[in-house]
Amino acid sequence: MARGVKIPSCKKDTLNEKIVSYSKPKKIYIPLICQNDTNITVLVKNGDYVHKGDVIARRKGALKIPIHASVSGTVKAIEEKPYLNGQNVKCVVIENDFKEKRANVVKVKRHINNYSKEEFINKIRDAGIVGLGGAGFPTFAKYDTDAKINTLIVNAVECEPYLTADYKLIQEKCEEILEAIDAVLEINGIHEAIIAINRNDTKTKEIINTFIGTYLKIKMVEVPEVYPMGWERTLIKQIKGVTYKKLPSEKGIIVNNVSTIYAIYEALKYDKPLIERVITFTGEKLNKPQNVLVKIGTPIKEVINSLGGYKEGEDICLVAGGPMMGCAVESDELVASPTLNGVLVLEKNENEKATECLRCSKCVEVCPVKLAPVLIKDSLKDPDNLKYLKPERCIECGLCSYICPAKIKLRDYVIIAKRKV
Ligand code: SF4
Ligand code: SF4
Repeated sequence: MARGVKIPSCKKDTLNEKIVSYSKPKKIYIPLICQNDTNITVLVKNGDYVHKGDVIARRKGALKIPIHASVSGTVKAIEEKPYLNGQNVKCVVIENDFKEKRANVVKVKRHINNYSKEEFINKIRDAGIVGLGGAGFPTFAKYDTDAKINTLIVNAVECEPYLTADYKLIQEKCEEILEAIDAVLEINGIHEAIIAINRNDTKTKEIINTFIGTYLKIKMVEVPEVYPMGWERTLIKQIKGVTYKKLPSEKGIIVNNVSTIYAIYEALKYDKPLIERVITFTGEKLNKPQNVLVKIGTPIKEVINSLGGYKEGEDICLVAGGPMMGCAVESDELVASPTLNGVLVLEKNENEKATECLRCSKCVEVCPVKLAPVLIKDSLKDPDNLKYLKPERCIECGLCSYICPAKIKLRDYVIIAKRKV
């Protein structure tokens, strides 16, 4: 049995609401960052006209991928805006002309299985597709491997509480997602695909069962509703019973989450780069919780206003991402980015003050990568000991903070340690 903790899902507010779209931002702020790497070459300057989908920047290094304009309009500035990690990052500001102009006429591909492997890899690299489950790893790099891949696992587990973007996407775009999975299998010579869904997600199960009939290489597997079941290592252990050292490809496995597969579909079918994504907007202090299709670079404040704004009353706490792995952000100047899967508007809890450690060791027991968060916290000023405790292995799942009866924000301490090491 894989490690995991049962935690409240808190998903009900958005589960029965259809995805809506917010497409009217006057200005777009495209973050110049990829996997926390800000080593990006900007390819536009103030006054340039850009089409929707034009490449405006490119990440440097071995995993270089492009960053695209999500609207057509005029480049106005490079400006800093809050990013999902709580820090400010430089963004290309584009004034939207609302014409949605593309540089070339879009040719819709009738059969998306008709790509060679090389064309497929180039296509998803040029579309700037990264893992949309949160990691942001360039997707083309997973497929550009000499390892023999036998299994594609499509992660529809979305184990973070509150978040339902992937649930809703696979429910509303099931046929497209199955078509994309089938194409990925055929193009890459992969034998099987396994869609992993949460055991209690009966609606998704029913919808997949309705459409899966003719796809003989695709099957669905139910996994327990525990956290962090959606983490790649936990999921692979649960489904295949294997572990790996560095990459799942060592065991012939690739994992993509549902949003990433849908982005692949749009790239193969419509030659569409990664310029928008579905984000869950929810929380008890938001007037109308909903999943929203948002252009990359859209100011979050505008989307929140379009959902009726905040509820009156006490102070709010804004979280970029889910409650376990997300980051509290100071202001709603935050902008949408490829790995922003949720925005939570919660009530500020002033009473949650940390107390003395009780030495209960619960944080050690739950850590999925077998770290000792309490010892890491205590060793922040002792570099030698810190190295020995290997905080760099932390996956930032937040379980240690969640479980701690003394309310110590252990994850924050481990992240500080991780940066130090
Ligand atoms: S130390 Fe990191 S990996 Fe371990 S429980 Fe805490 S956040 Fe998760
Ligand atoms: S869970 Fe909290 S109280 Fe228990 S040992 Fe860890 S830090 Fe201390």
